[in-house]
Amino acid sequence: MNFGKLQLNEEVKKKLAASVDSGTLSHAVLLTGGTEKERKDLAVLLAQALLCEADEKPCLKCVSCKKIKAGIHPDVSITQGEAGKPLSIKIETIREIRSRAYIMPNEAPFQIFIILEASGMGEVQQDALLKILEEPPQTARFILTTRSRDDLRQTILSRVTAFAVSEDSGQAAGEKENPKAAQAAISILTSLLSRKEYQIILSAGALEKDRKRFKSALEKMILLLRDAAVFPYKPYVGDNEKLVAGLAGTFTQAQLLAMQDELKTLIADADKNANENLLLTRLAMGLTACFQ
Ligand SMILES: [Zn+2]
Repeated sequence: MNFGKLQLNEEVKKKLAASVDSGTLSHAVLLTGGTEKERKDLAVLLAQALLCEADEKPCLKCVSCKKIKAGIHPDVSITQGEAGKPLSIKIETIREIRSRAYIMPNEAPFQIFIILEASGMGEVQQDALLKILEEPPQTARFILTTRSRDDLRQTILSRVTAFAVSEDSGQAAGEKENPKAAQAAISILTSLLSRKEYQIILSAGALEKDRKRFKSALEKMILLLRDAAVFPYKPYVGDNEKLVAGLAGTFTQAQLLAMQDELKTLIADADKNANENLLLTRLAMGLTACFQ
C-alpha cells in the first residue's frame, strides 16, 4: 500500500500495508488519533487502496481512485458525523446503511461505508450499526473514524480493528502496546490447540515483565474464546477466523467458558499486584486445567 504524502507513524503504516496488501484487512476498521482531517484523509486513502485497479495501491490515477476522491464512487458512501454530538448521525442513516449493505455493489467487488467522526452516533445508532458489524455481508466493508476509542461502545470496539493515525496523541501512544498484546493472545490461543502445557508456557513468555500487555492480551483472549463458544450458532467473521474455528472444534463449550473465567480471575489478580512469574505459571496451568 502506498501512503503518498500522508503522515503516519511507521508501525501503523507497516501494519495497515501488510493487511491491505495481503487482502486480510478486517471488514471493519476504526481510525483514531491525529486530527479530524488526518483521520478523514486516511479513511479515503484506505477506501481507494481497497478498490484500486492498479498493482501499486492506491494509484490515485485509475477510474476507481478518482471517483472515490471526487466522492462519486457508487460503491463508497461517506457519512459525516460531528465529534461528540451523538445526534449528528441519525438512526435513519444507520438503517439505510444497513439495508444498502445487503445490496450487491455496482462496480466494485464490495461496498465501503465510511463513517467519519463516529462519536456522532448515540447509543441507539451504535446498537443499530453493531448488528451489521456482527454479521456483515461478504460484500460490505466499514471504515469508522473517531478521536479516541473511548468515544465508542465496547461492543463496537470488539468488532473493529483499530489503527491510530498518529503518534502524538496520548491515545495513539497507549495503543502501541496493543499489537504485541494481540499477537501474544493469538499465539497463546494457538498453542492451546496443541493441548500441551509446555507449548502454552512457551507462548505465554511473550507476556513477561509487562503487566499492561499481560492484561490486554488476556482481554483479547477472552473475546476470542467467547467468539469460539458461540461459533456453532454464529460463525465468526474477522481476522482470526481460522483460530476461532480451531478452538470451537477442539474444545467443548464448557471448556471454553471455564477458560474465560480463568482469564477473568487472572486479570483481577494482576490488578492486585500478584507476582508476575506466578501469573504466567498460573495462566498456563489454569488454562490446561480447563481441558484435562
Ligand atoms: Zn487506483
